[in-house]
Amino acid sequence: MSSPEISLTINGHPITVPAGTTILDAAAELGIEIPVICYHPHLTANGLCRFCSVDGGGRVQLAACVTECANGMTIETHSEDVNRGRRTILELLASTINLDEAPEILDYLEEYGADSHRFPGAKRRTSPIYDDNPFYLRDYNQCINCWRCVQVCADDAQFTYALSFDGRGFETRIGTFMGEGMTNTTCVFCGQCVGACPTGALKPKRQALLEQGMNPDEIFFATRQKRRKKAMDAEE
Ligand code: SF4
Ligand code: SF4
Repeated sequence: MSSPEISLTINGHPITVPAGTTILDAAAELGIEIPVICYHPHLTANGLCRFCSVDGGGRVQLAACVTECANGMTIETHSEDVNRGRRTILELLASTINLDEAPEILDYLEEYGADSHRFPGAKRRTSPIYDDNPFYLRDYNQCINCWRCVQVCADDAQFTYALSFDGRGFETRIGTFMGEGMTNTTCVFCGQCVGACPTGALKPKRQALLEQGMNPDEIFFATRQKRRKKAMDAEE
């Protein structure tokens, strides 16, 4: 049995979609792109960053990635209020987090005319850089808590559950159980979290070394030397 159909209007364009379709997907069918930050098409949507919020005519805007279409809805995806909300989200992110390696967010800052210095006294989110495994670095100074890494490591792909979160509100942090180094977790170093991270908070170690100016041969010899030393230390 096919699912019932839902009719609504997005930016003045009528559309009919199967029940369960999100506003984000319905808009995409019309060729209307709603901007996203935490959303990833292959991961479970959570509506965390609210950047995809749209105007549905109610008191509260609707996160398009998680809100299902309903009959008679009239959606505006880029109204003045919606754009102002997006601008503020960007300004808050820029005031607290290092976005230097988040090209999509930097593009949005420009597109929405956001002022990255709007909140000059804002507290920055700071963290040590974790270099605790041979494969990738974790720099949570660049983390926007989008949750993608946690999800891809859990039920959305890897089922390894090596990553989790800690703290509340501003202090919410992605990390490992009891803050253990990655080699002491269930991590299998599949790299999926690195691929899903939109900000450079998770970065392949080799990429970091290349960016620091080392060439592939130097990286090879330095890595081999490190492995040999580790093996010798273990024998002692
Ligand atoms: S590399 Fe480790 S932490 Fe990242 S998704 Fe794979 S198992 Fe999870
Ligand atoms: S480390 Fe990257 S993927 Fe994970 S929550 Fe932070 S920004 Fe998102």
